[in-house]
Amino acid sequence: METQPPSSFRLSLKVKSAGCFNLSTGQTDALPSVIAAWMQKSMNEDTALYPPVDPIAAGLKAKCPRCGQGKLFDGFLKPARHCSSCGLDYSFIDTGEGPAVLVMLLIGFIVVGLALWMEVNLDPPLWVHFILWIPLALVLCLSTLRWMKGVLIALQYKHKAAEGQLDRPAHHE
Ligand SMILES: [Zn+2]
Repeated sequence: METQPPSSFRLSLKVKSAGCFNLSTGQTDALPSVIAAWMQKSMNEDTALYPPVDPIAAGLKAKCPRCGQGKLFDGFLKPARHCSSCGLDYSFIDTGEGPAVLVMLLIGFIVVGLALWMEVNLDPPLWVHFILWIPLALVLCLSTLRWMKGVLIALQYKHKAAEGQLDRPAHHE
C-alpha cells in the first residue's frame, strides 16, 4: 500500500521547495523570476505623490504648483529659486510674455469699455477720464499680472509645457 503524506504536508513542502522570501534581507533569488521582479519593483519604486493641487487656486495665491504650500515669488513678480516647502526647482518656469499679453488684452478691454461707456453716456470733462482710468488701469494691471503669472506657471507645471525639442539622438553636446 502506497503511503501518501497528508495534503497540508505536501503543500508546505512545495512552498519550501519554491524558495523562501527572506523578509529581513529582501532576498528573492529562489522565487520564480516574475514574482521576484514584481517584488523588487514594488519595494524599490518611489511612489511618493503629492496630493493634486488646483493650478488656478495655487496660482492666484502665488503658491508652489506641486505642493501648494511654498512661496512662488521672491518679491512681486520674480520667481523664487525653489519651493521653500517641497524643494521643487523653479528653473522650469518660462511664462515669457504670456501673463503681460493676457493682462493687457483683458484689462484694456475692461478699462477702454468703461471709458467709452462713460464718454457716451455722461460726457464728462477730459480730466475726469485721466484721474479715473489711468490709476484704475495701473492698479488692475499690477494686481492681475501677479495672479496671471502664478496661474500660468501652475498650468505650465501641470501640463509639463516646455520649449519644443527635436526627438532625435544628439551627437554633439
Ligand atoms: Zn512646493
